Amino acid sequence: MSKQSYTIAALAGDGIGPEVMREALKVLRAVEARFGVSFEIVEAPVGWAGIDAAGQALPDATFELCRRSDAILFGSVGLPDRDASVPKQERPERAALLRLRKQFRLYANLRPVKLLKDLAHVCPLKPERQGTGIDILVVRELTGGVYFTNPKWTEELDGGHHRAVDTMGYSTPEIQRIAHVAFQNARLRRHKVTSIDKANVLENGVLWRQVVTECAKGYPDVALDHMFVDNAAMQLMLKPSQFDVLLCENMFGDILSDEAAALAGSLGMLPSASLGASNGDVTFGLFEPAGGTAPDIAGQNLANPIAQIFSAALMLRYSFGLTAAAAAVEDAVVKAIAAGFRTGDIFSPTEPAAKRVGTSEMGDVIAAGV
Ligand code: NAD
Repeated sequence: MSKQSYTIAALAGDGIGPEVMREALKVLRAVEARFGVSFEIVEAPVGWAGIDAAGQALPDATFELCRRSDAILFGSVGLPDRDASVPKQERPERAALLRLRKQFRLYANLRPVKLLKDLAHVCPLKPERQGTGIDILVVRELTGGVYFTNPKWTEELDGGHHRAVDTMGYSTPEIQRIAHVAFQNARLRRHKVTSIDKANVLENGVLWRQVVTECAKGYPDVALDHMFVDNAAMQLMLKPSQFDVLLCENMFGDILSDEAAALAGSLGMLPSASLGASNGDVTFGLFEPAGGTAPDIAGQNLANPIAQIFSAALMLRYSFGLTAAAAAVEDAVVKAIAAGFRTGDIFSPTEPAAKRVGTSEMGDVIAAGV
């Protein structure tokens, strides 16, 4: 029998983080009541909140809590206007988030981008370009490629010029590991993987294509095609409905996942999962909204909590294997949207039945829907 009690490190962070986290925790309490599971949720400071509380963006106590937990539910960190004297490597974006990804070897980043039927008007594409609907899962390799491969250096040249060098490297096991994540997820969806590379100019791309093609032999029920990254960037705008799972190396995934995110109309709708190793029934992961701390709307009950709530749903599915509970949360969001509830970012005066609500009311409606 699988485990029915889970420990969650809830790190709300800065800006809108605490506001949207509160709503996600409400929803998790509703899941406990309905599904008979129990969550030990421990909240801890991170980001500027960590610096204020303990002098570090990722305080030791917060890191220890993460180590003891089954999963991390993360808000967001970083406030661009805070204390410019704090050096880059100690600022939250690097010292907290990148460190967590690195320490816990979170190699698979999953970003579902789904345009809900009732929100077609917030998509920047014309209805005819939206086709049969937009429902894409970007699977991005998160710990390799040009961002992490050594050596990296900057050297001085004659005449006061400089030259900067980054190295891009991928090994067969690194590619296999992320390709399996993409194929396994395609099996839960529409059975199609589009693998992105630049095999026409990069050695890395040639190896990437070979290894992914080899892995595909283990998944005869999943269709595989390959696309150059430049064409993929264009196709996402021209005909996004052709994509099911997009499999990308780190940098291409970074760029294409943000481009795909724009299709959903608001960052406030988009969750993400960063997964590490599995340990029996539980896969360790960090779950967070795709957006940042939104300082422009923080503290005003204006933020859309859905990205954080969807992130909690991804945690239920990917870390704990609670698929029915995850689906119940996602259905509750769809029902709230269908009933016309809108935070400011997805509100349009052209929808006569829409009801503009704040962060906490949206959370209440969704929790009640669970
Ligand atoms: P942002 O994502 O915070 O905001 C961009 C725009 O999207 C803003 O207009 C904001 O109001 C809106 N938005 C974002 N989330 C929303 C939500 N839930 N509901 C409604 N509207 C929402 O990006 P930014 O302004 O470039 O960055 C602000 C800070 O966040 C920076 O310090 C940046 O480094 C940090 N950041 C952190 C993360 C993270 O923690 N993972 C990710 C991105 C940015």
